[in-house]
Amino acid sequence: MSKKIEENPEFLKKVAPIRFLVLDVDGVMTDGKIGYTSAGDECKSFDAKDGVGIKYWIRAGHRAGIITGRSSPAVARRAEELGVGFVAQNAREKLPVFEKMLADAGVSAGETAVMGDDLADIPLIRRAGVGIAVADAVAETKDAALWTTEKTGGNGAVREVIEAILKAQDRWTVILSRYC
Ligand SMILES: [Mg+2]
Repeated sequence: MSKKIEENPEFLKKVAPIRFLVLDVDGVMTDGKIGYTSAGDECKSFDAKDGVGIKYWIRAGHRAGIITGRSSPAVARRAEELGVGFVAQNAREKLPVFEKMLADAGVSAGETAVMGDDLADIPLIRRAGVGIAVADAVAETKDAALWTTEKTGGNGAVREVIEAILKAQDRWTVILSRYC
């Protein structure tokens, strides 16, 4: 089956109930490169359009979460400035953390979309209603996903997903009406 959403007949049906978006950080919200300052602090580069997309997502009445296997103050800061209400860092095994996050958010797996790029994301991608791999995800993650983005991690993949889901839910025009 095609991994392009517009060619995927399952997409519209599965995307309709989605109201929670759970993101991996390295390789999804960033291009996966990890830098260090001379003081040893971790540096990450986030995409501005992804960030605005997350704000649109929340404005549309949805919620967002982050689950990452690493830990960095940059992630906490980015989550706070975007209004991402659920953040789990140092998640060595992601599935139990994901299940707890769903319980905390009061949403079901079927109401959740997950974006990932690597093997550790596969259990979440399989469990979620809509499992999504970024364009530069590893092959196994793409195989597990319902949908593979055109854009790569850290380069607009999150924005691509948010726009596609909000358009499919007929919520994008409300966002546009504020600007156009
Ligand atoms: Mg990753």
